[in-house]
Amino acid sequence: MKVFLRSFGCQMNKLDTNLVVNSFLQAGFKLTQVLAQADVVLVNTCSVRNHAEERVLSLLGLLKHIKKTNPELVVAVFGCMAQRLKEDLLSHEAVNIVCGPLQIPELVNLVNKAVGQKTKSTAVSEDIRHKSSQQQSQQLDDFEYSYDSAEDNLPAQAYVRVMRGCDKFCSYCVVPYVRGPEASRPPEKIIAQIKKLADAGIKQVTLLGQTVNSYHYEDFSFADLLYEVSKITDIEWIKFVTCYPKNFDERIFKAMIDLPKVCRYLHIPAQSGSDKILKAMNRGYTCDQYLRIIDKAREIVPDIAIAGDFIVGFPGETQEDFQKSVELIQKAQYKNCFIFKYSPRPGTRADDKLADDVPIEIKKQRNIELLAVQGKISAELNKSFIGRTVKVLVEGASGKSHLDNIDKKQHPQLIGRTSGDCIVVFDGPADLAGRFVDVNIKRASALTLFGRSTD
Ligand code: SF4
Repeated sequence: MKVFLRSFGCQMNKLDTNLVVNSFLQAGFKLTQVLAQADVVLVNTCSVRNHAEERVLSLLGLLKHIKKTNPELVVAVFGCMAQRLKEDLLSHEAVNIVCGPLQIPELVNLVNKAVGQKTKSTAVSEDIRHKSSQQQSQQLDDFEYSYDSAEDNLPAQAYVRVMRGCDKFCSYCVVPYVRGPEASRPPEKIIAQIKKLADAGIKQVTLLGQTVNSYHYEDFSFADLLYEVSKITDIEWIKFVTCYPKNFDERIFKAMIDLPKVCRYLHIPAQSGSDKILKAMNRGYTCDQYLRIIDKAREIVPDIAIAGDFIVGFPGETQEDFQKSVELIQKAQYKNCFIFKYSPRPGTRADDKLADDVPIEIKKQRNIELLAVQGKISAELNKSFIGRTVKVLVEGASGKSHLDNIDKKQHPQLIGRTSGDCIVVFDGPADLAGRFVDVNIKRASALTLFGRSTD
């Protein structure tokens, strides 16, 4: 049986996709990149933005046509959109199986039952906000441990989920309604998993959580987890995403200073610089409180690299509110920022209660303007790297043009990242992928540092 897979969405989804793929491979399925050859199509879905859902629906439209000539094809839709739409998605002509994010360990069995039967089935949480049973948590942990793999990601890098779900209920966000309540994994399971990955050659782990700094298992905190992960031999870099700015435990910054393996990189979304908008977003902090956290981060870890997220065009965002986001970007001096245009999500408080009253043209304009403000800051910060030598974990070949054309046959252009998440491009042999290399920076743009290996 051949499986074709499409995955949409965030890093959390990519991780789920990898686990699901490995579970299918171990159950004897083969992967195919050719849709026409597939017996089974798996679609991992995202509900965070409307656009991601539209792309899934368009794929399902195509699958509906394919099923006319291949009625035996089994189509399984899983992830956030499956949880959000449940039976509505099952009624789509193309779909055989709808499986929520907490039910992915059941997916192989569901597909096996559907093969040759043309049946339809669902496995989704009826009440997603209800805390998972001990048995379900155990099942998810075992699935995570059994099917993660050092092969899935960039060479020598792995993502490890430390918590699931979210309890913050930002008014625009669908995550608490599709991923369920916050649940931290037992530290011993996380450590065992990372040791297994380290034995398989992983050198960098990125600890994942929607609000990773909220991790706590009984009285074991996220800072405690960093100290424990740091003890694992062969893991050289530890990164973590994404942080939530409320109730930030300063011991996390102290861990960055104490533990050389913990990368001095903090991704901490602000979302807006206007207190009025932050309140409407239910973010639970003011702009001033947010700035105090990043000031504290820089006081304890002077060379920390900070990245942010902003939403432009949230309901009620006036030009004055938007200017406050511009000011916050200027004050925060982020290394880079991810900027999104507000898109209402069904079932969220913002969609229920607030009119999407900022015209799309204004959203686009504000998006461009914020990117330009951040671009200047990033370009200036990157310039300060020129002449310095930085340690880079090499990801592999870069698709861009060569720095040194004479040398390009022997030395393809490579791309890697520093511990502070700067992208570095340099010429070098392809077998450096997955290794640490010292690179002397010669040139810089807003997005990339260009250099030469000193090895
Ligand atoms: S913290 Fe807010 S934006 Fe992030 S996942 Fe939770 S509800 Fe969504």
